[in-house]
Amino acid sequence: MIGFGSIGKGTLPLIQRHFEYDTDKFSVVDPNPDSAAFLAAQGITHHQVALTPENYRDVLKGLFPEGKGFCVNLSVDTSSLDLMKYCREMGVLYIDTVVEPWAGFYFDTTDNAERTNYALRQTVRDEKAANPGGTTAVSCCGANPGMVSWFVKEGLMTLVRDLGRDDPMPTDRAGWGKLMQSLGVKGVHIAERDTQARAKPRPRDVFVNTWSVEGFIAEGFQPAELGWGTHETWMPETAHSYDTGCQAAIWFERPGAITRVHTWCPTPGPQFGYLVTHNESVSIADYFTVGDAGNPEFRPTCHYAYHPCDDAVLSLHEMFGAGRQQQVHEILDVDEIVTGIDELGVLLYGHEKNALWFGSRLSNEETKALAPYQNATGLQVTSAVLAGMVWALENPEAGIVETDEMDHVRCLEVQRPYLGPVEAHYTDWTPLQDRWEHFAEDIDESDPWQFRNVLAT
Ligand code: NAD
Repeated sequence: MIGFGSIGKGTLPLIQRHFEYDTDKFSVVDPNPDSAAFLAAQGITHHQVALTPENYRDVLKGLFPEGKGFCVNLSVDTSSLDLMKYCREMGVLYIDTVVEPWAGFYFDTTDNAERTNYALRQTVRDEKAANPGGTTAVSCCGANPGMVSWFVKEGLMTLVRDLGRDDPMPTDRAGWGKLMQSLGVKGVHIAERDTQARAKPRPRDVFVNTWSVEGFIAEGFQPAELGWGTHETWMPETAHSYDTGCQAAIWFERPGAITRVHTWCPTPGPQFGYLVTHNESVSIADYFTVGDAGNPEFRPTCHYAYHPCDDAVLSLHEMFGAGRQQQVHEILDVDEIVTGIDELGVLLYGHEKNALWFGSRLSNEETKALAPYQNATGLQVTSAVLAGMVWALENPEAGIVETDEMDHVRCLEVQRPYLGPVEAHYTDWTPLQDRWEHFAEDIDESDPWQFRNVLAT
């Protein structure tokens, strides 16, 4: 395991519970000394070292001398692409939860186009195209990116049933794209509301979150970015599109974590979310494209609409207002959280039944009973890693895959016991409703589901 932070620590008990392996061959690579005693007590070897472009091959070679095993990458500041390539070269299975770059990339790169998830993801897609097949490497298999791609397919099949249709479940990418198109789905919000909170008020100058603060700041400071659907008639003035690669997304000149969108989740109903860039915004739009990349017949709009926990909202507000990062970072611990759930799902919109939210509504209380060392947010991620590992072991020669390309039924079968209530909710809400009427807004009343209406001004 590379990286033993909040997600690594939560994944460990699931690996221990579900797989047979030689404990003396289990190693954790993480420069942080804090978990040394904990790992030693579990009989796990701790290599206290930071992977770098210079040392990663030597370190990994030492860990997999026979070229057999599984590399579970749950770190920040390591290149997913480099680690994945070398693992495949050795014949070692690989999984990660994000296309992570080497340290420095997020803040030292001056060209915003290079800092997009489109650019990061394209490096992995290019590697897949250049070296198809071979040892399985699962890219971006957390909650989102990851599990939500499986929810999109479950949501589509729910719509099929509830509309009284009898379409069989598609078996390939072309079939899924056609199904989404024929159902009239215009787009997908990855719609999340995290209500987890502790009793202590957030201290000033401390960034508080329910998962990696470093990871959230890095992605929040990337440009706002989204998969761009064929039904859109308007683009933000600062938007950039692509004429190379999958061409499924656009980005604009503004950090995602201060770009608000109107969205909907079951607990709050209508709410603001942040248009934080994510790999799945691009991968889902790409996967469900019908026709040519450059001139598609159909493509859904797809983006994250994230309302993090209230302390994280305040932390973002403080950070962007001050123009500097807080030096103290805190991740809400499962035992200090006194209330709340992480409600994470997909809002499929624009169809005959208007909008369907399909997702997990996992509470912190239920999480405690399911698995140790993590809050609800963590368990949604770690159980997806578990599902991805099972799928990789069952499909060891599948090459590089994203979660859109995996068997979602099998993966959710493994993951579902850890997700709390997994529910489908229809709503008649559209982004034209529940707005303040006192100020004129730049909206398009002819089609409620235009991104122009979703983007908050
Ligand atoms: P964290 O900050 O709690 O832990 C990251 C760990 O990586 C730390 O222990 C750190 O010491 C270690 N690390 C830093 N530099 C390293 C290096 N050079 N080599 C090896 N280890 C190094 O983060 P987390 O909350 O555990 O998240 C881990 C990763 O998972 C992040 O990349 C995050 O973006 C991703 N994530 C994905 C999802 C998803 O749903 N897809 C959700 C949460 C987190």
